[in-house]
Amino acid sequence: MNATIIGGGVIGLSSAYFLQQEGWEVTVLERGDGSDGCSFGNMGYLSPSHFAPLAQPGIISQGILWMFQQKSPFYVRPALSWGLMDWGMKFARACNASHVERSARPMAELLLLSRDLTAQWETSGEMSFEYAETGCINYFQTAKYEKSELDNVRMGRELGLQIEVLSREQCQALEPELPPEVLGGAWYKDDAMLYPNDLMRQLSDHLEKRGAKIIYNAEVVDLQKDKGEITTIRYRKANEGMTSSQALTTPDLVVLAAGSWSQPLAKMVGEYLPMMPGKGYSMTVNMPHQPLRHPCILLEAKVAITPWAKRLRIGSTMEIGAMNDRILFPRVQGILEAVPRFFPDYANDLAFRELADLKKLKERMQEKIWFGYRPLSADGLPYIGFAQKTENLMIATGHAMLGLSMAAATGKLVSEMAGGKKTSIAVGAFDPGRY
Ligand SMILES: Cc1cc2nc3c(=O)[nH]c(=O)nc-3n(C[C@H](O)[C@H](O)[C@H](O)COP(=O)(O)OP(=O)(O)OC[C@H]3O[C@@H](n4cnc5c(N)ncnc54)[C@H](O)[C@@H]3O)c2cc1C
Repeated sequence: MNATIIGGGVIGLSSAYFLQQEGWEVTVLERGDGSDGCSFGNMGYLSPSHFAPLAQPGIISQGILWMFQQKSPFYVRPALSWGLMDWGMKFARACNASHVERSARPMAELLLLSRDLTAQWETSGEMSFEYAETGCINYFQTAKYEKSELDNVRMGRELGLQIEVLSREQCQALEPELPPEVLGGAWYKDDAMLYPNDLMRQLSDHLEKRGAKIIYNAEVVDLQKDKGEITTIRYRKANEGMTSSQALTTPDLVVLAAGSWSQPLAKMVGEYLPMMPGKGYSMTVNMPHQPLRHPCILLEAKVAITPWAKRLRIGSTMEIGAMNDRILFPRVQGILEAVPRFFPDYANDLAFRELADLKKLKERMQEKIWFGYRPLSADGLPYIGFAQKTENLMIATGHAMLGLSMAAATGKLVSEMAGGKKTSIAVGAFDPGRY
């Protein structure tokens, strides 16, 4: 039995991994060269703490307020686009407490399963990607954010997560650099971190060593369907300036895992997936002496910081709208300015100072600003499962800000459903046919 996976991001490669383990002959078609994309420059968090879907009460009013602040972490680029309007209406309908309550358990189950499966890749010695079970600390500076964080803590504990609420003094004992303005934090002990660039390289090496075929620079341009099944996958292969058109025929299974580009591919075979790209930035600094000990999220600024052994990554923002390569510098500045507010010592670090010098960054260091497009579903839950109208098509996308956190479990579920097996966890909430 052969499976073709469209998209070589973390979701596509994880699906390939588990399908291969179940004996499928796997081919991955990837438009890029396998060295960059959303699955590489992300923050590297495995976040069971993020069991609440992106669509939740309050996010729209907060988002509207933020839209008028140049340096804010959230922005919707207004456009007369049916796709954006349709996605926006569905998203707005999902922003209610009962949706969060219904979704929290399936999300937590998916996240915990995924964390465990990812940990096994490292502990079994199959791969090595700086996996560490450090937990993640969410810091707050204001009573407003303390209150909403404590609501999240309560819900997380009901779901069985290990969470320690930290006083200011406890935060300072863990991270001596924190200033007294930090009121406290919540330490989500089930969270973990890894270096995503290494995970991606090692997943692809591992797959190829075991006989999977990963075809890079291969952009799928057409899907032909006959009698309810995909029969031909046409792709354009770019090689040393030349392009050629090629095709794979009679696939037993096709897995659509093309991240933010999945919607038009699904449309080729009459499937509808409401999706929008959510652009986010990250900056990585080499830092041999790391002042920070734990990965953390600065809640008011919505900035995440990940300290690996020799480097630090800072990331944030959610710009929803059609894709473009423009960098919104005030938002990058917003991210960089937030860090010394919580960790004043970074203002003295040379590598960080260089990065935070926006003039320099604009003129000479644009390549230091990485961005990627999170694939946003309309209700904040991923789409995982068989397509509605195409028998041999599975969908695995829409993981928004949690693609790395959910990748291994998504791959496992794809392989179980493809083989007609009982799934490790309930999958109803992730049905791609729910719209
Ligand atoms: C700033 C930032 C920080 C983040 N931090 C975290 C984090 O800490 N933890 C976490 O869990 N998640 C995080 N995320 C989200 C996470 O990175 C994404 O959810 C995840 O990478 C999505 O993976 P994917 O495989 O679905 O998509 P992608 O990584 O985008 O992969 C899709 C692939 O499909 C390919 N493709 C597209 N069209 C075609 C075509 N026609 N033919 C062939 N190939 C095609 C693309 O080239 C691409 O490589 C973050 C995202 C951002 C932007």
